[in-house]
Amino acid sequence: MQVVIAVPMSPEEYAQRYGEVRWPVLEACPICGAHARLQGHGWYHRNALPARETELVVPVRRLRCPVCRKTVSLLPSFLLPYFQHTVRFVVGSLLGKVKSYRELLRSHWRRFLANANRVLAFLRDMGVRERLPDAEKERAMKLLGSIETFGLERFSMLFHDRYHRGFMAHSSYLPRTSG
Ligand SMILES: [Zn+2]
Repeated sequence: MQVVIAVPMSPEEYAQRYGEVRWPVLEACPICGAHARLQGHGWYHRNALPARETELVVPVRRLRCPVCRKTVSLLPSFLLPYFQHTVRFVVGSLLGKVKSYRELLRSHWRRFLANANRVLAFLRDMGVRERLPDAEKERAMKLLGSIETFGLERFSMLFHDRYHRGFMAHSSYLPRTSG
């Protein structure tokens, strides 16, 4: 399981200075619910691609539950679960601000459109009251603009907290149910 945490650093800074991050302490297991402090369980490395043709690999901290023995990854908020690219790159390319790859952009559009209604519901809950056009693509662009105004990483993290899935998650992915 992944938990998205706020990291006040760019991906490049994080890659250099992840030792300075104040990691949250989890006093209960988000998987089995046991009231037991999760313990450090090493790191794994994954891509955090911030731009086209730019490589960046970052370490991701892992914790383990002493009761169920399952691991929880602390994903920095500049990343989206299961995406190679940073959230800034993904949203920036959807908004046409940064150059992506044709196939990748197509797949990102499909993902975003599949999640658009949930994104809208969440923005409404957060108090965003913008009027939206009816046409799907214009509507989506407006939503992406609202996400950016709200704060990309903050939005991404709060959305994940609420739904236990990213706002770009595959539509057939069913997360563990929650309250
Ligand atoms: Zn557990």
